[in-house]
Amino acid sequence: MKNAGVAPSAAENDMVAKKRRSSARGAKLTEYQRKRDFTKTREPAGDPSSIARKGRSPRTKREPKLQFVVQKHAASHLHFDFRLELDGVMKSWAVPKGPSYDPAVRRLAMEVEDHPIEYNTFEGTIPQGEYGGGTVMLWDRGTYEAEDGGGADALRDGYARGDLKFVLRGERLHGGWVLVRMKRPGRPQWLLIKHRDEYAMSDRDVVDEVTTSVATGRTMEDIAAGRKRRSRSAVSAASKKTAPRKKTPARRAG
Ligand code: MN
Repeated sequence: MKNAGVAPSAAENDMVAKKRRSSARGAKLTEYQRKRDFTKTREPAGDPSSIARKGRSPRTKREPKLQFVVQKHAASHLHFDFRLELDGVMKSWAVPKGPSYDPAVRRLAMEVEDHPIEYNTFEGTIPQGEYGGGTVMLWDRGTYEAEDGGGADALRDGYARGDLKFVLRGERLHGGWVLVRMKRPGRPQWLLIKHRDEYAMSDRDVVDEVTTSVATGRTMEDIAAGRKRRSRSAVSAASKKTAPRKKTPARRAG
């Protein structure tokens, strides 16, 4: 018999871990909120009660699907904000060159503050002079999961280890990817790399080809000018034209 008298039970350990995670969630959006003046920007404020509600989802047989979003952001420097839902917030990275389908290409991804889940529907302009002032486009969105099928636990571990492997099911981004944290002092810098799978390709540049909103079909210029969404048919035609195909056997032109 082990030290049953003093050792916490598995259930107690589980409760402590849960408590720790939920108080961490409360603090998670502090930096996001400190950086922004919500009387001036139309970005979501990230209501703490919505975070708690989202985080406290009851244990169901199947874990709810986790969301991902990529926003193209023309701020002082153009970049792509890559966001993965985890524990009630969007873990966020700024990727200056955007994602690449080429497994040989490593894209710098600078970790930034967690964003509220409501940010996933934000497209528009942030006033000049405010934090992140400029134009924001919803460039891709969908669901994602741990590559090994281990659910949120595997994602949490991968994030903590600095080796986060996942599968994206977006409209523009598909298949396996990894974020690898580099050992550098200061704010964490990661590399975003495509895994070798049926979606990998080295002959096309998705960031170059796909220049419209996944939600509204608008270009950055349309959004900046406050023009309305493009017609449904224009949006679907554009996404058909730009959606990466599954890899076909290489055509050698000679
Ligand atoms: Mn940004």
